[in-house]
Amino acid sequence: MTSAVENGTGQGFSFAGKKVWITGHRGMLGSALVRSFESEGAELLLCSRQELDLSSQRDVNDWVQANKPDLVFHAGAKVGGIYANSVAPADFLYANLMIECNVIHAAYQNGVKKLVFVASNCTYPTVAPQPISEESLMTGKLDANIRSYAVSKIAGIELCMAYRKQYGCEFVSVIPPNLYGPGDNYHPEHSHVVAGIMRRAHEAKLNGAKEFIVWGDGTPRREILHVDDLAAAMKYVMCTPTSHDLFNVGYGKDFSISELATHIAGVVGFEGRIQYDTSKPNGTMGKLLDSSRIRQTGWSPVIDEVTGLKSAYADFLNRSKQSGTAGRF
Ligand code: GDP
Repeated sequence: MTSAVENGTGQGFSFAGKKVWITGHRGMLGSALVRSFESEGAELLLCSRQELDLSSQRDVNDWVQANKPDLVFHAGAKVGGIYANSVAPADFLYANLMIECNVIHAAYQNGVKKLVFVASNCTYPTVAPQPISEESLMTGKLDANIRSYAVSKIAGIELCMAYRKQYGCEFVSVIPPNLYGPGDNYHPEHSHVVAGIMRRAHEAKLNGAKEFIVWGDGTPRREILHVDDLAAAMKYVMCTPTSHDLFNVGYGKDFSISELATHIAGVVGFEGRIQYDTSKPNGTMGKLLDSSRIRQTGWSPVIDEVTGLKSAYADFLNRSKQSGTAGRF
């Protein structure tokens, strides 16, 4: 992958010799960030959940004080898809508020030079002008299925803005659309849309089924982004001086869930029908991001959905083979 620096950005900026803390480095986004740092010459600071509990204020303070990161990519969060969020809102709200407060406050107290925080497209109101610009944040009601997680991510954005305003910290947030790619979670109920559909299409193919289940009625529209594009954008934001404190990072086009399911079924090679499970929530009807702010600074995504979905499925097959579970990992 082209590094953010090679990409013509952040002239004069180098990660070489810098201490870079990537929170959540075992998750899909964190591991994409780690991959992208292979040849940057940075000193990566990586801690598993067993080594450092991000929800413990004391542990985070002690660790940050001892390790003194220069830069922080804050990708660590409790994440799950629309259904997981709808049934466990307290868990998502509590864990993410705690993690954000601890990491962001410790970064401020320990003189971190820059922090990039990843939020979510669910922070935008259910009814917002499409494509949704950064200006739409906190202008309306949130989707009830995912409101707790959205509020936690809004709090993270607001924390970054507040520390910037009060203390001059260079803390910037990014809002991606629905993510997919290598390292995704394919849990049958807790996964995000691309992973959930991919898994069921794959299982239907293996089982010789005539149809596979897609949640909702297929009409909501979603923009998807390959996780390597988001990692590249976060590095770009990290090394590019900016007066903005928030960037949408989208691919620039959306699909109805039924179009998306058809694409995914094509990549998987399943030729049967789609059956809709309308007992599962549709969520917000449209979430296309207006990413002109980051585009104007010079960054754009490079992984289209055809290439991206194929690479995600290749990773799915590989992991499924390694675990010997035919996709049931
Ligand atoms: P996500 O669940 O975090 O990907 O995010 P959204 O809140 O954007 O909702 C996902 C949309 O995809 C909703 O309209 C769902 O009804 C629809 N969908 C269809 N099949 C699936 C699936 O298998 N998993 C998930 N998470 N969503 C699905």
